Amino acid sequence: MLDSVDVFIFDCDGVIWKGDSLIPGVPEVLEKLRAAGKKIFFVTNNSTKSRKGYKAKFDSLGLNVNPEEIFSSSFAAAAYLEQTKFKETGKKVYIIGERGIQEELDLINVPWTGFALPHDEDVGAVIVGFDRYINYYKIQYAQLCINENPGCQFIVTNLDAVTHLTDAQEWAGNGSMAGAIKGCTGKEPTVVGKPSPLMIDYIADKYKIDRSRICMVGDRLDTDIVFGNSNGCVSCLTLSGVTTEEKYLSANNKIKANYYVDSIADFF
Ligand code: PLP
Ligand code: CA
Repeated sequence: MLDSVDVFIFDCDGVIWKGDSLIPGVPEVLEKLRAAGKKIFFVTNNSTKSRKGYKAKFDSLGLNVNPEEIFSSSFAAAAYLEQTKFKETGKKVYIIGERGIQEELDLINVPWTGFALPHDEDVGAVIVGFDRYINYYKIQYAQLCINENPGCQFIVTNLDAVTHLTDAQEWAGNGSMAGAIKGCTGKEPTVVGKPSPLMIDYIADKYKIDRSRICMVGDRLDTDIVFGNSNGCVSCLTLSGVTTEEKYLSANNKIKANYYVDSIADFF
């Protein structure tokens, strides 16, 4: 497999780290892949940090990566606004989310607002990312903007049902926040995180990469492996995160990867 691909896209949580702990063997594998001339990218659905925030996290774990190699769903939301020329509308974005989305919009000079009343007709897009401080009034404000502002976009960073904020238990993920807004608007959002193709399209176009030479490595079947499989990439499941071997091999699971490993430490 290593010979058949030139590029590795690594999901982060469950592949590179778990919460704030580095997965054993990861630094050595990344070093060996780079030494073998492979291009490496990191793609995370966690929107709470910006690229800059993730760079600090990689640094804190002793991993030397270039910020341009990092694609977070917060960055993807900003990239989507750029692609759709949102700035030309002169409108602002209402964010349900944390610092990551705010920092990415600041970098592309798109004005944004958090929860505010009264209703602002200048909001042209609502972005819903993971927000530990979501409440009824934030939901209501999104409802007003999406239902009453003509042409207002409804963008979500990701639809992960649950996340591993801590190892002790699973926590409600951004699927719950997106679901709240879907529930009161009846609208389907544009998803920019995995498994939507946006980030692979961005990487493949920018770096002129043949998708069949990309290996997507992830721990979650319905985001990472679907992301790889539906975009013409080679896919590799790692069992170092949320998917157990038993669940992967069970008759109920219909999502199959081209390869699976205990952890990426097994690459060499
Ligand atoms: N969203 C949140 C809030 C998370 O905490 C996590 C993982 O910790 C994710 C999404 C999934 O991140 P990844 O795509 O790196 O697995
Ligand atoms: Ca993951």
